[in-house]
Amino acid sequence: MPSEENSSHKYTTIRIPKELLDEVDQIIRLRKRGYRNKSEFIIEALRKRVDELTLIPTSNLPVLEHFNIDEQGVRILDRTLSSKTSQGRIIDVYFKPGNVWCDYCQSNNCRHAEFALSLPAVQDILSKKGWNIKT
Ligand SMILES: [Zn+2]
Repeated sequence: MPSEENSSHKYTTIRIPKELLDEVDQIIRLRKRGYRNKSEFIIEALRKRVDELTLIPTSNLPVLEHFNIDEQGVRILDRTLSSKTSQGRIIDVYFKPGNVWCDYCQSNNCRHAEFALSLPAVQDILSKKGWNIKT
């Protein structure tokens, strides 16, 4: 294999509509924003789009998410309570006869308690315990 091919294997060629590329050419010719060549412009444009698409899913994550359920209670991740060091806070909601208790809010009537009661797995555990669910 010629060495030229080895050095260029990290790059690939794609087809771009000529019309679009002509617009890019024009931007570069007018030295708008200081692009030196088409590649520089296209790589930056592509990078921006990739960042956009990879950032969106994180912000679309549910605000409340359960990740651990046992007989005693359910652990909920609350993403609205995130700090600089973490992306959310773990909230413990305990099962009590006839209700659930949020350790964080010290309440049986907060959104964590409400969320816990909405989970089929929690409803299942509570009904097996024979506790009525107040919703
Ligand atoms: Zn709560």
